[in-house]
Amino acid sequence: MENSASSEAFVRFEGVQKSYDGKLLVVKDLNIDIPRGEFLTMLGPSGSGKTTSLMMLAGFETATHGNIYLDGHSINNVAPHKRGIGMVFQNYALFPHMTVAENLAFPLQVRNMGKSDIEERVKRALDMVELGNFGDRRPAQLSGGQQQRVAVARALVFEPELILMDEPLGALDKNLREQMQYEIKHIHERLGVTVVYVTHDQSEALTMSNRIAVFNDGVIQQLAPPTELYEKPINSFVAQFIGENN
Ligand code: ADP
Repeated sequence: MENSASSEAFVRFEGVQKSYDGKLLVVKDLNIDIPRGEFLTMLGPSGSGKTTSLMMLAGFETATHGNIYLDGHSINNVAPHKRGIGMVFQNYALFPHMTVAENLAFPLQVRNMGKSDIEERVKRALDMVELGNFGDRRPAQLSGGQQQRVAVARALVFEPELILMDEPLGALDKNLREQMQYEIKHIHERLGVTVVYVTHDQSEALTMSNRIAVFNDGVIQQLAPPTELYEKPINSFVAQFIGENN
């Protein structure tokens, strides 16, 4: 049964700032509440602080100031692998000498999970991305889109409640990228998992997201659903940036 905590933000950035090596702030006073199940995209030009924000949520970077909460608990001092977060990156390199199933099983073996548990989880994750019959293949025997789905499955194998994706489609050609946008969106809708997605691609963000946080220079300029950003941009930066490539 859901408890009252479900009405709270699942992910909360509260006054988060980041500077590298004591230099200028690259993330300035970040405040976002992300409800459970939302697909939230951090969108903005290169260097605007999106990846840094995602890495702080993942635990690979430490906030200089402020707090990050997951399901109501501060995670500032929680190690990355204890946060229950799955990650998908652009450079999702699969192990070429292992089968698809072995690629998925590997991180679970490292955590000493039992063999039958691992087999079940690998099967579930492959079914989720509709690659149930591809477990015995090697990555080179898959198309680019299928390999990308394996990368998503590798995040799902941990059965996380939160998935972070940093430009996961950046290396794919345009057609495949569009196809994968719909596939990832479909996976999100089917699983009801919370997704925080980073991209600099406006049309990708507009297609996939429940809400978009438009970043510029370490600051969220506007946080709103796609239609609102499109119809009521809050300032000329948002209007111009959202208008590009559309
Ligand atoms: P985005 O994801 O929007 O492209 P980033 O978060 O990667 O932006 O970068 C924001 C700023 O922080 C940039 O100016 C970048 O050069 C700087 N930066 C990112 N990572 C590091 C790092 N490890 N050390 C020093 N500066 C960094």
